[in-house]
Amino acid sequence: MAEDEFLTLRERIYLLLKESPEPLDARTIASHLGLPDSERGRVEEALRHLYRSVKRRSGGMESLEVVPARCLDCGYVFPKKEGEFKKPSKCPRCKSQRIEGPWFYIRSKKK
Ligand SMILES: [Zn+2]
Repeated sequence: MAEDEFLTLRERIYLLLKESPEPLDARTIASHLGLPDSERGRVEEALRHLYRSVKRRSGGMESLEVVPARCLDCGYVFPKKEGEFKKPSKCPRCKSQRIEGPWFYIRSKKK
């Protein structure tokens, strides 16, 4: 769609998450939008902004939710910290670097 070019990165991420049947991580979001993995920082920055703005702009009907990252080796789940959208580099429990997530989705309140 040519009109995609007129949407900001934030809007494109918002629409992508809204249409996705499952939570997506920043790398998957970047690849869906045709961005190289090196642009992941921009995606994380946009997610941080969306986290604050989605609720306000939807009048409280929608929110950006975060599924915390976890360690693939020992199952450690990283604590949810507000505004922490980057993939952790290392597991504090087993020191593994095989980390998955965090994932993001838009939650809509049913009327
Ligand atoms: Zn671990």
